[in-house]
Amino acid sequence: MSQPIETDLVIVGAGMVGLTLAALLAESGLKIRILESRNVDPQQALAWELSQRATGYDSRVSALTVASQQVLRVAGVWDQIQQMRLMPYRAMDVWDGEGTGQIRFDCTELHEPCLGHIVENRVTQSALSQQVAGQKNVEFSTGVEITELSEADAESRRLLTLNNGEQLQVRCVVAADGALSNTRRLAGIGMWEWDYGHHAIVTTITTEQSNKATCWQRFTDDGPLAFLPLPEDNLSSIVWSTSPDHAKALMGLDDAAFCQAVEQAFESRLGKVLHTDQRFVFPLRQRHARQYVKPGFAAIGDAAHTIHPLAGQGVNLGLMDAAALAETLLDGLEKGVQWNAEFHLRRFQRARQSENLQMAATMEGFKQLFNSTEPLARLLRNSGMSLMNSLSPVKNHLVQQAMGLSGNVPRLARRPIRD
Ligand SMILES: Cc1cc2nc3c(=O)[nH]c(=O)nc-3n(C[C@H](O)[C@H](O)[C@H](O)COP(=O)(O)OP(=O)(O)OC[C@H]3O[C@@H](n4cnc5c(N)ncnc54)[C@H](O)[C@@H]3O)c2cc1C
Repeated sequence: MSQPIETDLVIVGAGMVGLTLAALLAESGLKIRILESRNVDPQQALAWELSQRATGYDSRVSALTVASQQVLRVAGVWDQIQQMRLMPYRAMDVWDGEGTGQIRFDCTELHEPCLGHIVENRVTQSALSQQVAGQKNVEFSTGVEITELSEADAESRRLLTLNNGEQLQVRCVVAADGALSNTRRLAGIGMWEWDYGHHAIVTTITTEQSNKATCWQRFTDDGPLAFLPLPEDNLSSIVWSTSPDHAKALMGLDDAAFCQAVEQAFESRLGKVLHTDQRFVFPLRQRHARQYVKPGFAAIGDAAHTIHPLAGQGVNLGLMDAAALAETLLDGLEKGVQWNAEFHLRRFQRARQSENLQMAATMEGFKQLFNSTEPLARLLRNSGMSLMNSLSPVKNHLVQQAMGLSGNVPRLARRPIRD
């Protein structure tokens, strides 16, 4: 067998999070290799995205926070994303479908142009692919997977064996290969994991009335139904989280009956639901890695944690992980410390683990509160929501959180101070 190839950093997984990390490290001087199991051509990513336009909108969209927008700007892709397709949302309207509680956030109250942007995952991913493919410090390998990952040596380096027989001697391996991360498993990191008891149906729908550039969410005993506005006035992307049995029944309906079910569950707030695209269903599980780092190893994004999509925070947390890890690596390089050692990587873990766990706990609390038919829980959520709506400081704190601007925000995600 030939000699292993020496590489500084291997990022496993060319999803939104792994690609963002690579883009943030463009000027680091590190020699980076991205390993992606899908057969994709990163150089053709934008051309491919444009060719998909005729097929309509990606059924997978993300509500990107202001903090994520800043990270993507530093990564050099925000302008590209803007030129492709996105939808700024100016308000959020959340209400309890089983009661009277209601809360509304509006960007004008905050003197902000918008609260965030709805972006198709396909758009973010292809802008990042194209950006990273043009970086001279990055090599992209697609259609490959790791089969073996050695323990770290005295210098925290690891030996990787790929399914094409190639071997790499790597100073640090980053698992960004999604919720079922094989890399995290090979590194011997366990998970806290449980089923939310929800499946999420996603699709694009056409409504009679305008989406009003608003994210809408109706909570019911079964779970939340979210409408996320798309750039065309009468289109919204929906995420309907409900019990597995209900999701199965909804998936079994013909399009007309499904549209009617959505309209009813949404209390016809945007008039009639006129059309649905193809529907997809995802089982929802809460997962959290017991640790994010080891010598010569770090896990980010869904490879480290997954949460309920009810607050649309999953990829936002992942992008904050990418920003915090990039900062940790860049600081280590600048100070000349052993940047791949566990003691140094723990700085990234300290910055992110408590933030991610706090968000997971909040989502769990929301889910429990809205799943309960107990009169006390109902009273709490109705009076709690209405109280929050009337108390400006509490409301401001919530909206800052929804915009990704509260808590321990990574330096790369902070907005430059405005005049
Ligand atoms: C229904 C639903 C709605 C959501 N809505 C929102 C939202 O509004 N806002 C939000 O912030 N988040 C949302 N999320 C969460 C968000 O989609 C995820 O957090 C995000 O996609 C994770 O990105 P990632 O790059 O970490 O992982 P992934 O997107 O899973 O990317 C992993 C990459 O690794 C590759 N890979 C996998 N295995 C291997 C391997 N063995 N070797 C090499 N490569 C591999 C994959 O092909 C892929 O390219 C939602 C999730 C769901 C299920």
